[in-house]
Amino acid sequence: MLDHKIDILDRSLEELKTDMISIGEKPYRGEQIIHWLSKGVYSFSEMTNIPEVLIEKLEEHYTISTLHQLKRLTSNDKLTMKYLFLLHDNNIIECVVMKYYHGNTICLSTQVGCAMGCSFCASATKGLARNLTAGEMMAQVLAVNRDIANLGWGDPPSIGCVVLMGSGEPLDNYDNTLRFLHQIHEPKGFNLGYRNITLSTCGLIPKILALAEEDLSINLAVSLHAADDETRKKIMKIANVYSINDIMKASRFYFNKTGRRITFEYALIEGINDSPYQAHELAALLKGFPCHVNLIPLNENSHSNQKRSNEKTIKVFTSILKSAGINVTRRREMGQDIQGACGQLKINYLK
Ligand code: SF4
Repeated sequence: MLDHKIDILDRSLEELKTDMISIGEKPYRGEQIIHWLSKGVYSFSEMTNIPEVLIEKLEEHYTISTLHQLKRLTSNDKLTMKYLFLLHDNNIIECVVMKYYHGNTICLSTQVGCAMGCSFCASATKGLARNLTAGEMMAQVLAVNRDIANLGWGDPPSIGCVVLMGSGEPLDNYDNTLRFLHQIHEPKGFNLGYRNITLSTCGLIPKILALAEEDLSINLAVSLHAADDETRKKIMKIANVYSINDIMKASRFYFNKTGRRITFEYALIEGINDSPYQAHELAALLKGFPCHVNLIPLNENSHSNQKRSNEKTIKVFTSILKSAGINVTRRREMGQDIQGACGQLKINYLK
């Protein structure tokens, strides 16, 4: 059957059932295994209802991807923790967990680094190192789930929402991201509802269209950050490839296919995209579209000289959108004291 050891977290239930048959076992063992994996076991020997002979076969054919925790920082208000994990090939990734009133939310990475080169983002500093596998995305959820259960953040599974908004562009790693979405949703496994998952993209149009066709009701967050192409090009390289018009068309398509309201992310950067004129342009662009605008005062980092907008500017910008009938909120800022900006902790650690 398998000629080399593979990460069992990368395997779907159907694949596991097929694997079981090929090693002379009953397919239902696949369900038992995936149940144990969703509990975050580190080893096959912890699977107490699996016979010894099968455990030996599992050890022969598979590994369980585990992440070595290099660092965990906790914010002063104890509501956010940021993790640095070491991968098997010595690459390092970050993820964040936030305690919200509606449950614990993990923001995880989908790539090591990122090729998209957004000017305000620390993750883009060294470009893309490699894609993460679905198993490595699952491993982040399981490691954090285990950790917060030990810390008393709630009964396991205590991760109630997953946000693909850490390092990397998830749609630039489409196949692995899609596999992960299926894995975490698997009812016999982690069983997370698609509606509790948000995927954030800088706007890879063909992939947004493909995702819309997958028939998953996940939430889509589009990083817009400007209401006109010229401004967007100043801060996002992807704006040289796809226009805002393309983004609006793809967003409408996604909404029509899935019925899920789109969130537009808008990082407010001093002197770049935060003028009252730009707020009016944004309102005109989104008028009548069932969407939500998430205003994010820029998370400053030492690798960019861009500054966050001041409080007065943020208030004016918000009120213009509200007056135009746009559904807008300001993102609750969490983990500012623990280098909450994506990619920042990793860079500082590597220094
Ligand atoms: S903001 Fe997102 S898409 Fe842009 S460089 Fe950072 S990780 Fe990549």
